[in-house]
Amino acid sequence: MTMIEINLQTVRDRIVAACKAAGRNPAEVTLLAVSKTFGAEAVQAAYAAGQTAFGENYIQEAVDKITALRDLPLVWHCIGPIQSNKTRLVAEHFDWVHSIDRLKIAQRLSEQRPEHLPPLQVCIQVNVDGGETKSGVSPTDLSDLAQAVAALPRLQLRGLMTIPEPAETDAQMRAVHRQAKNLFEQLRAQGLPLDTLSMGMSADMAAAIAEGSTMVRVGTAIFGKR
Ligand SMILES: *Cc1c(COP(=O)(O)O)cnc(C)c1O
Repeated sequence: MTMIEINLQTVRDRIVAACKAAGRNPAEVTLLAVSKTFGAEAVQAAYAAGQTAFGENYIQEAVDKITALRDLPLVWHCIGPIQSNKTRLVAEHFDWVHSIDRLKIAQRLSEQRPEHLPPLQVCIQVNVDGGETKSGVSPTDLSDLAQAVAALPRLQLRGLMTIPEPAETDAQMRAVHRQAKNLFEQLRAQGLPLDTLSMGMSADMAAAIAEGSTMVRVGTAIFGKR
């Protein structure tokens, strides 16, 4: 077994254990392997161990990998900040974007999504715990942005993404995740058919799953230190 294969199995076991503890079905939680800074061969090793969903932060680096591995049936998620001048690359190469936090970026992605590809699957990044310097829309502006994004023709709004500040205790982590879950349910109650809550990383995976995460994003625990 390769180290990546062993690590993947450990992470999968942790997801199953967290689901069991929360009384949830492990099939409800997708593992996104965050491969940023690692090369195509690392992605290939994870694919050989059964992993198909990958998360990337840096657009040009990701496009190189996506192009090199285009013969594999992989699903690519953009989870990093997107500048206006990078939207075309994202629209042409990714399957998902988790980091929508401005309407302008969403509009450009919709306009630039090629006709021969299915709609770009997107989540809105929400700044739940109010970190001043962080990206993500504020909870007060979320509903308007979500309604506007949902109306764009070449995007399909799937849910929310959060990157909370590191917290000391399990209770603190769970409180932030619970706020995200509440915002998610409020949007659903407004009629948006959302099914994806992208929250939880290596350190807070169990807390996120306990509060309703449907997608956890894990890098270091699979690929090693960056
Ligand atoms: C890097 C990154 C991750 C993965 O973090 P690890 O600590 O390596 O598991 C998850 N989400 C986002 C948005 C990231 O940028």
